[in-house]
Amino acid sequence: VKNGLTIIVTGGAGFIGSNFIYLELAEHPDDRIICLDKLTYAGNLLTLEEALENPNFHFSKVDIADRDAVYRVFEEEEPDIVVNFAAESHVDRSIEDPGLFLRANVIGTGVLMDACCQYGIKRYHQVSTDEVYGDLPLDQPDMFFTEETPLHASSPYSASKASADLLVSAYHRTYGLPVSISRCSNNYGPYHFPEKLIPLMISRALGNQPMPVYGNGANIRDWLYVKDHCRAVDLIMRKGREGEVYNIGGHNERSNLEVVKTILHELGKPESLITYVEDRPGHDRRYAINPTKIYDELGWLPEMKFEEGIRRTINWYLEHRKWWEDILSGEYTSYFEKSYRRR
Ligand code: NAD
Repeated sequence: VKNGLTIIVTGGAGFIGSNFIYLELAEHPDDRIICLDKLTYAGNLLTLEEALENPNFHFSKVDIADRDAVYRVFEEEEPDIVVNFAAESHVDRSIEDPGLFLRANVIGTGVLMDACCQYGIKRYHQVSTDEVYGDLPLDQPDMFFTEETPLHASSPYSASKASADLLVSAYHRTYGLPVSISRCSNNYGPYHFPEKLIPLMISRALGNQPMPVYGNGANIRDWLYVKDHCRAVDLIMRKGREGEVYNIGGHNERSNLEVVKTILHELGKPESLITYVEDRPGHDRRYAINPTKIYDELGWLPEMKFEEGIRRTINWYLEHRKWWEDILSGEYTSYFEKSYRRR
């Protein structure tokens, strides 16, 4: 007889999913966590090394778009909750190969929900992004995304995430699947793949290498420490209302240039490392979340202040050099060189 819940976490070998798994194992020791991950370039089993020693944790290399493999897991594990972090997540890659994003992000979501309908489930939670709302102008600082903001995606990545969100709402309405959706702003923290802004800049600054900033660096992102995001997802999947969308964000807006300068300042490196590169096509200007609903309904508030979070993140990268240096020495390096052309 099992006491706790069985929770399938997809994409758990990636950045946010792995942080979520560590939070769940620490805070819900009666629950069993089954991680499904395809281990794409972004997934790294080393990240789950400590979790793999925990008897409440099990890893399975599964592509969420592979129907037979997914159904087999549901049959064997009889999950109570499914939380879907698995996705192709890098905007620049989506511009190069949109089809890959449709398969993982849209078809994958559909297959997971079909399995939920077939085998029964207490909750299916979809981890989404504020990027589904498109962007906000830079000169209207009082505008924020709410859960009612229309979907208006800009990149193939955000369009694939928006498509998945629509599918999740449709499965709720059509089949009565007990779903919830969260849309979070940009995350940072440990295990962040070094192609994303903050870890990229930390690793470049540590190596005294040029730090590529898109355009003039004025684009604004709303940064949230990854653990704060994970706590929010945990609350929503357990206590959030069925069929609802919750925005997650910490009112922590910074321009890309401010973020890069904060990192340089923390590391005592010169601003001359900043190199402006050709802007990303369709680059979203500003994202900013209004998180009132999750505060009012579930009492969630972010705990980590940005400066402290950046300091901790830098320390983590300093203490886990092998983790990111191994990644940087592989396939990724040639991708990096190709992607950033000097302006
Ligand atoms: P990530 O790229 O670090 O990790 C994604 C993981 O999913 C990897 O381990 C990868 O191997 C796995 N994966 C990809 N395709 C798969 C497939 N078909 N089947 C099984 N596994 C597959 O991404 P992340 O930054 O941790 O993002 C996780 C989720 O959170 C995504 O859905 C993303 O859209 C969402 N999100 C991210 C942010 C952010 O700032 N990083 C913000 C809001 C929402």
